[in-house]
Amino acid sequence: KIILETWSVTCVRVRDSYVVEDDLETYWALRRLDTRYTPVCEDQEARREVSLNDLGFYDNVIGDSVRVYDNIVDIVARGGPTPLVRLEDFGSEKVRVWAKLEWYWPCSLSLKDRIAYHIVKDLHARGLAEGKILIDASSGNFGVSLRALSRWFYYRTRIYAPARPGRFGRYSKLFLELAGTEIIPMDVGTTVEAISRVLEEGARDPDVVIASQLTNDMNFEAHLKTLAKEIDLQARARNLDVVIIAGPLGTSGHMAALNFYFTSKYKGKVKTVMAQPARDDHIPGIRRVETGMKWLEAISRNYVVIDVTSLEAVKTLEELVKTNGILPGPSSGAALAALTKYLEANKDIEGDAIVVFPDHGFKYVDWIEAKLASLKQ
Ligand code: PLP
Repeated sequence: KIILETWSVTCVRVRDSYVVEDDLETYWALRRLDTRYTPVCEDQEARREVSLNDLGFYDNVIGDSVRVYDNIVDIVARGGPTPLVRLEDFGSEKVRVWAKLEWYWPCSLSLKDRIAYHIVKDLHARGLAEGKILIDASSGNFGVSLRALSRWFYYRTRIYAPARPGRFGRYSKLFLELAGTEIIPMDVGTTVEAISRVLEEGARDPDVVIASQLTNDMNFEAHLKTLAKEIDLQARARNLDVVIIAGPLGTSGHMAALNFYFTSKYKGKVKTVMAQPARDDHIPGIRRVETGMKWLEAISRNYVVIDVTSLEAVKTLEELVKTNGILPGPSSGAALAALTKYLEANKDIEGDAIVVFPDHGFKYVDWIEAKLASLKQ
């Protein structure tokens, strides 16, 4: 946090040219932020401050313009940044709205590819043996990402899925079935309710490791070092005056990371607007704050949580198709609806607003059709 706030770091003292001696905290913070270089003190006395700009801070999110990759996991590792696009007909005269299109990832066509990659890579780096079974509860996207990316590290997967109608996406089910992945249906409505069974399995079977998107800090960290940096880099490239970042809440991984990054770096200038489903309503992929979110509880400042009904989310998707020609998923509709409500209540705001669109609408055709039918009644 201090490194992001000051945008600089004090050089790290090393022994015998290689061994980091004292400043392990700084060293690990830089690894977490994924700078290309770590500054090393020339001598023990002279401790210099070095700007993050001189440490290749953005190098890990600057993509390859020719876009040729060794394999699918290579796309997830260095295929960003995902597009940031100006939305017509949203916002106001004073606020321009830009959407971050996360369906551009290759496996789940959602931002969950980012976190599955970092979770699996971290387990592999910490020596997890090949052949182990990674398990987790998922409503679709994360299960697909986990299965797709585990394969490159020779791990197996098993997914615990809510079985109530409409709670596990058809695309995800088909994908996992084609992949031959074991899906354990659970008589629950949300992934959080399936967690106790996942924990029991983890404790019972020594071959099983829980990927744990709800608690694994690689979720937050993946978004900190990729999604947040990409948005910052893209906003700077266009001289945007970012004052709002909006998005929906599931695990809270991406919105908490964006809040942490932008609040630290821009000293509270950027407000985070988070969408949750209205009470007793359901929007696929997202849930209410009181169901418990690890990282949201860890950040303390500068955010608002706004209730959105499923009908408001769908109406927003309809508007997006009419005006911009894109159909993202319902959680994207919820995020944009929350942003619109926030702007209506705060008419004095000026600048640029970024909204995260976690995935694409084609996965939710049945759900969207059903909502549109109830709108017409
Ligand atoms: N939207 C969709 C479609 C998702 O699959 C998820 C996943 O949980 C989210 C939004 C919420 O993102 P996060 O888990 O980072 O809060």
